[in-house]
Amino acid sequence: MSKRILITGASSGIGKGIAEYLAKTHSVTISDWDASRLETARSDMAVKGCEVNTQVLDVTQGDHLEQLKHLADSEGIDVLVNNAGMQHVSKIEDFPPEKWQQLMNIMLTGPAMTTRAVLPAMKKNNYGRIINIGSVHSLVASAYKSAYVSAKHGLIGLAKTVALEVASSDITINTLCPGYVDTDMVRSQIKQQAELHHISESEVVEKIMLKNMPKKEFIAVEELAGTVGFLIGPYAKNITAQAIALDGGWTAH
Ligand code: NDP
Repeated sequence: MSKRILITGASSGIGKGIAEYLAKTHSVTISDWDASRLETARSDMAVKGCEVNTQVLDVTQGDHLEQLKHLADSEGIDVLVNNAGMQHVSKIEDFPPEKWQQLMNIMLTGPAMTTRAVLPAMKKNNYGRIINIGSVHSLVASAYKSAYVSAKHGLIGLAKTVALEVASSDITINTLCPGYVDTDMVRSQIKQQAELHHISESEVVEKIMLKNMPKKEFIAVEELAGTVGFLIGPYAKNITAQAIALDGGWTAH
């Protein structure tokens, strides 16, 4: 059955890819904080025959969260994908405090507040699926990524807590934990790292990016989209509070 799905941070990368996949069978709203990038994403998708709605939503802004609540209460949101994210790499001693706070606001407080906004409507409909896009960094750490790792670990605690609070309804909340995903952003990082270290792009992929991924391949956006598709389907209604790793074996180390 067609579901009403809202995805945050969906004008590029993983969020956009998940939207394209799910829009084949569901009613999808892509949201992001930048209205013009959001419109560009919508028209890119329309060219491919993929129709989606848009909603400007900065997950750190109270008035935007109020509008999200209004949308959920008035039109219904069955599935929320908390995808918006940002990275900043720095030693903890040098980490700008405002940058640390910004990452936490976007990737931990943001998902908590979007969840808060949509849950009353989900409870009223006795159906809801909340899917956080965490990371392998929800489960393990890498140096110099303290804010990202802390926020992504926090998502698992958030999901466990909310899962207990909504257990009497047909609402679940889970966190996908991907290793490196094949997105434009990762591709451009490969290029930058190759220039920085004076090595080839294939060496960057093999020696740096996929070093911790025993299966030695990037996760495809479609693998994440397909997992979201499974979690919103009929056989996953008792899967809740889980961290689901799509990490090519990273966490087996
Ligand atoms: P992108 O940068 O392409 O997507 C993230 C989106 O979130 C961007 O459009 C970004 O906008 C948006 N965003 C940032 N801040 C806000 C905000 N306050 N409100 C709403 N939207 C916002 O990256 P990816 O597609 O790679 O990442 C998507 C998610 O997947 C993130 O949570 C990331 O941590 C996670 N992830 C990614 C992996 C990867 O290898 N790519 C691996 C594991 C997890 P803008 O660009 O303008 O900042």
